[in-house]
Amino acid sequence: MINERLLDKILKKVEKPGRYVGREINSIHKDITDETIRFAFAFPDIYDVGMSHLGLHIIYNLLNQKDHIYCERVFAPWIDMEKQMRDNDIFLYSLESRTAINNFDFIGFTLQYEMSYTNIINMLDLGDIPILSKDRTLDDPFVIAGGPCAYNPEPLADVVDIFVIGDGEDVTLEILDKYKMWKDKGLEREKFLEEIVDIRGVYIPSFYEVTYNDDGTIEGMHPKKEKYPRIIKKRIVKDLDAAYFPDKIIVPNISIVHDRIMLEIFRGCTRGCRFCQAGMLYRPVRERSIDTLLKYADSLVKSTGYEEISLSSLSTGDYSHINQLAIELIDRFKEKGIGLSLPSLRLDSFSFEIIEEIQKVRKTGLTFAPEAGTQRLRDVINKGIVEDDIINSVTEAFERGWSTVKLYFMMGLPTETDKDIMGIKELAYKVKDIFFNMPKEKRRGNLKVTTSVSCFVPKPFTPFQWHPQDSIEDFYKKQDMLKKEIRDRKVTLNTHDPRLSFIEAVFARGDRRLCKAIISAWKKGCKFDGWSDLFKYESWLKSFEENDVNPHFYANRIRDYEEKLPWDFIDAGVTKKYLIKENKNAEKGQTTKDCRNGCTGCGVSNIVPGGKC
Ligand code: SF4
Repeated sequence: MINERLLDKILKKVEKPGRYVGREINSIHKDITDETIRFAFAFPDIYDVGMSHLGLHIIYNLLNQKDHIYCERVFAPWIDMEKQMRDNDIFLYSLESRTAINNFDFIGFTLQYEMSYTNIINMLDLGDIPILSKDRTLDDPFVIAGGPCAYNPEPLADVVDIFVIGDGEDVTLEILDKYKMWKDKGLEREKFLEEIVDIRGVYIPSFYEVTYNDDGTIEGMHPKKEKYPRIIKKRIVKDLDAAYFPDKIIVPNISIVHDRIMLEIFRGCTRGCRFCQAGMLYRPVRERSIDTLLKYADSLVKSTGYEEISLSSLSTGDYSHINQLAIELIDRFKEKGIGLSLPSLRLDSFSFEIIEEIQKVRKTGLTFAPEAGTQRLRDVINKGIVEDDIINSVTEAFERGWSTVKLYFMMGLPTETDKDIMGIKELAYKVKDIFFNMPKEKRRGNLKVTTSVSCFVPKPFTPFQWHPQDSIEDFYKKQDMLKKEIRDRKVTLNTHDPRLSFIEAVFARGDRRLCKAIISAWKKGCKFDGWSDLFKYESWLKSFEENDVNPHFYANRIRDYEEKLPWDFIDAGVTKKYLIKENKNAEKGQTTKDCRNGCTGCGVSNIVPGGKC
């Protein structure tokens, strides 16, 4: 336990102390015995962000269902709190029992974003846990990590003891089961890792050695013992309808990013957008039934008092019974004033009737993600929509009384030209014209078109994994071009910091040689790198230089198909052959159909238990 009196004192000095106290409705408190396996679910960002993450609520409640496991939460303290903690010698602690995290058996990080890597280092340091796995002893916790970034685990290979690849529910429980047996035997750490190395979805980086070619590319990934698996297959929860989902979630005492019930309606996506990593990683599609979802909605509303239910998935409109589900939820809860939100809706798939029904409870703006400004480029990225879809949807939206529209684009996509960049402006202006071409009496509200353009980051396990990222200079040039062109009070342009996207690109496709650079960047004060006002680009450059890392080797170099990629030892289901085929189709501007309309042979069915999607 940490010193509560001291904590009370420092909490008076920090912004939003509610982040650090716990004791929220539905948080779980257990008696701790010698038998208890203590697991700290660690989110490498602040409480407000972490508590909005559905995966945290699933794993937290799943583990706590077991009597012998106690899962608690820990978040990255904001700068002011960290200073107070360091000044007063308070170790990073769990919110439930306020125990310093070095007393736990496991610290489980979720890797949602490459720019959180320095926060992981910082949290370990604040918890007095050795940063490098090789320095940990029997007195230290095991550091375990999962989430989308774990599909290229290598930049954190020296830090993390155990990676979990794929759906975390079953594999985490299997690891903890083995832990119990190991703990009872009192053996050394490595013996435990050997016990779990064969569990599907588990990757132990310290059990492998990487060799390099003279040009710096990877020569091979070698298991240190014959018995360690050469390929790590991702874990898949086959029957999502039967899988665990919480009927209670913690209700924070302070406002957070997404303050609402998150109902996961399905996992996976059949669309095949070529830039989208999640779309490839989470295949195949697995849905929950309407009955199951209504049951969870009922109990979550009862147990939380929330006034909003958000239907969570990669592409909400693709849920087989989306209309029926939305109508049933609206009917069930409208009397209570409980609203519904449908994020991740695609332009071509939503029903305005449903959205209007939803918005009777709460009115929000509409968001569209054309991703690219021209049809040619939308075909290259296999976005699967044509301009008419956008125009028709926007026209209908304006006719039905909307006037606030957000448009999301990326720049730096493969094969992009200036014409594609100008296409972003043209599309935004077309949207504006649709509004003003309507008779005045039909227009409602004040038009606001927000155009957000992010910098494309090529990601592993996508057809674009071989592509170089645009240079920072090119990104700036393209942004300037748009800034000069978009000059209209009604159309706002938001752009991203290309330097931040560059660092993200380095780590997204990096290897284990980058680990040293992460640690030295942290030593130079880098943390919360995804927060643009805290991002220290110069410190990153210095860290690369000091560790003989050429960041352009990772971000801006074209890779050929024969090159061994740092994540090639992971089998995410979608085959390399398929990704190459898709990349070639992209180069030709050929689209690939949505695989709900016929399998396109991505390969994931080969690793699904039962061999069928
Ligand atoms: S194996 Fe076929 S049906 Fe299954 S996700 Fe891949 S393309 Fe779609």
